[in-house]
Amino acid sequence: MSKPIPGNILFNSLRDKPVIIMAANPRVIPGVATGILRAAKDLNSAIIFELAKSESNLEGGYTGLKPSDFSSRMQDISDEVGHDMWVLHADHITIKKGTPEEVEETKQLIDAQIQAGYTSFAIDPSHLYNFEGGNLREELSQNIDITTELAKFIESKMTGKPFGLEVEVGEIGRTDDHGRVLTTPEEAVTFIKALNENDVHPQVLAIANGSAHGNIFDEAGNPIEQVSIDISQTKAVAKALRDNNLEVRIAQHGITGTPRELINTQFPKGDIVKGNVATFYQNIVYDILKVYHPELYNKAYNWVIDTYKEKAPGKKNIEIFGKYAKFGIKQFFDEIYDVDEDTLHAIESLCYAETLSFLRAFSSKGTAEIVRKAL
Ligand SMILES: [Zn+2]
Repeated sequence: MSKPIPGNILFNSLRDKPVIIMAANPRVIPGVATGILRAAKDLNSAIIFELAKSESNLEGGYTGLKPSDFSSRMQDISDEVGHDMWVLHADHITIKKGTPEEVEETKQLIDAQIQAGYTSFAIDPSHLYNFEGGNLREELSQNIDITTELAKFIESKMTGKPFGLEVEVGEIGRTDDHGRVLTTPEEAVTFIKALNENDVHPQVLAIANGSAHGNIFDEAGNPIEQVSIDISQTKAVAKALRDNNLEVRIAQHGITGTPRELINTQFPKGDIVKGNVATFYQNIVYDILKVYHPELYNKAYNWVIDTYKEKAPGKKNIEIFGKYAKFGIKQFFDEIYDVDEDTLHAIESLCYAETLSFLRAFSSKGTAEIVRKAL
């Protein structure tokens, strides 16, 4: 079996090279993960596969996959495709309340992820922000404390095995009266220095830099491209990390909807080292089902609209479906996972081609060779 490689070796071997490594979220696995991995193999590119805590947890999450399911399916696909340079990453291990019970529950999930063979982890208590704090350090104290506790927990459970660590400062997509709230360079430096003092050494930092997760819409409910990522702020955060000799670079979340020519020509590659793409692939699956299995697509579409229209009063159906279609995956899991060969072939082919284009935009061709040598 082709096991995933440790995330820290990937990130450290590529640090300050002008590349971004794609972190693909195969929310629906059949066809999607195979197409993505084939593209990575053909470009000799390293790649990360990830699902967030909301998507894959001990109850299955909204993908219907427990950590052991995700891991074993990915290892099978890696065997089938024959690509070795991939990381299995736990995305958004989110802590929202910060209570001892929540932390304890989260440790059980992490334990299951480690037993399933995960090689990289993103701890995310970024929602916990003390707005009354006297200084930055106090404002971030709960995030620092919980990130430290969970990072130490991972370290003890990994029993000496290397692993990747991503942390998060600034909740992605959060808005206030002035628009999206952005992470400042001082905030990023304060946060990482505090973690390093606690002997926690992440390789990547997720920041709030103007992106949002998932499909996005304008006020009239029409789907729009995502061009809101603040490039200069992102560069300023990366520069501050470098100037302070902190060996951490940036993870870009919420790339779906960002034009690839913008990624290719404007994203600071090497400042951003990890690029998360998730909803994009889910959209491909639904687009294919729409043509190949209209009855299944319509059933899923109607279920999503009926189930979630009350949560989105006044919104058009296109926006409700765009935002909540992810919950249809578990609801129609058996049918989606049981589609015929022609459908699978179409999903895989589209995911393959789109991934080639992403990997090109990320300049990640050949990165697998660099990581291979570092192992
Ligand atoms: Zn994210």
